[in-house]
Amino acid sequence: MRNLINRLDAICHPFPGTHVLGVVGSLLFIGALAAWPAIGETGDRPDKTMPIPTLSMFTEAMRERIAPTNRFDVRTERVRDGDSLSRLFNRQNLKPQLLHSLTQSETGEDRVSQLKVGQTVEFRYNTDSELAELAVIQSPFHQTVAIHSDDGWTIEQRHREPEIYIEQAQATIDSSLFLAGARAGLPDNLIMELADIYGHVIDFVYEIRQGDRFIVTFEKRYLDGEFIEYGNILAAEFVNSGESFLAVRYTDSQGDTGYYDENGVSLRKAFLRAPLNFRRISSNFKLARKHPILGKMRAHKGTDYAASSGTPIYAAGDGKITFRGTKGGYGRTVIIKHGNSIETRYAHLSRYGKYKPGQKVKQGQVIGYVGMSGLATGPHLHYEFIVSGVHRNPRTILDKLPKAKTLPKAEIARFERTAEPLIASLGAQRSRAELAFQNVTQP
Ligand SMILES: [Zn+2]
Repeated sequence: MRNLINRLDAICHPFPGTHVLGVVGSLLFIGALAAWPAIGETGDRPDKTMPIPTLSMFTEAMRERIAPTNRFDVRTERVRDGDSLSRLFNRQNLKPQLLHSLTQSETGEDRVSQLKVGQTVEFRYNTDSELAELAVIQSPFHQTVAIHSDDGWTIEQRHREPEIYIEQAQATIDSSLFLAGARAGLPDNLIMELADIYGHVIDFVYEIRQGDRFIVTFEKRYLDGEFIEYGNILAAEFVNSGESFLAVRYTDSQGDTGYYDENGVSLRKAFLRAPLNFRRISSNFKLARKHPILGKMRAHKGTDYAASSGTPIYAAGDGKITFRGTKGGYGRTVIIKHGNSIETRYAHLSRYGKYKPGQKVKQGQVIGYVGMSGLATGPHLHYEFIVSGVHRNPRTILDKLPKAKTLPKAEIARFERTAEPLIASLGAQRSRAELAFQNVTQP
């Protein structure tokens, strides 16, 4: 147990400088895993976040102790279109000489006069109503501060470390991934990130089924007890059509961060499952269907992704463009060859990307845009995945595709130290959810 706490604390604090809030936060998190009663909490609303219990109460109590004492009278300016520091000085009724001496003392990176629209600038006055500090708020965690004294100005960068808390949320998909996420209290960008993590394993357009579920462990960043933003996804489990996929965030000893399964195999595979942004995106991979225009049954060897015209299309994997041009009913078409035996085809494009035949492309690079050229009733991408000359559904032949990166042996022990407590916590969450479910479904 002690070990687990230490590990979780390390996960909580990727930054140096341990903060008392964080430690207690992780202890509470452990408490939640070990002792939080399962019954009733999730039963009536299965899709909800599992916050660290009593966290909000706790941070409320801490706030007064942490908040800095206000030495200054602070007047705030928001940078508007066309504003300059001199305009802000005008609005504050400050003398131009003061601004002049300030801009004279600016060097290198330490500048306060280069303002961005929407930024907040704080004018901090001392008890004699003299300007003591001018702060450009870069982010909740970073401000550039010009300090005024009798000797002139000095400019410094002030950074603050966020307190990081870990939370878990779980959801069961009823109609859409985003709706399930919203019911669980998760913001869209966190769901997008989750979809990105699994983008090589699951086709979020076609393979999501009612009853699919996920558990996600993520960071929340606070300052002085106040929630600022969501942080990284640390771990997740996605159950798709009964198959479970684990993901653990891991930064290797070279400093590269990625998501790996329980065996240290990267979730970043050689091919994307849906070669476009699934959010902007409708027929499944079927070998026979009625073609809407030709009006007769003909093999439909591929997947159609309905998307608005102009949606960027990504190269599904690293490879070389072998064809770019018009191909009968396919309209504008791009073909990419990947290694010796795999080929991907993209049809009905409105226009091409910048890569020409013979050029190499990397996975995720834009090779064209959705359209309805050729025989198409509406804008969509027709995507084909061909292995040794045969059309295949990439999901069913995953084992025949190039293997994803696996962590080297030397990294595995280190990876396991990170992964174990995270995977254990996903397990704890899963059994709580199952218990609650039984509780609800039993008469
Ligand atoms: Zn098609």
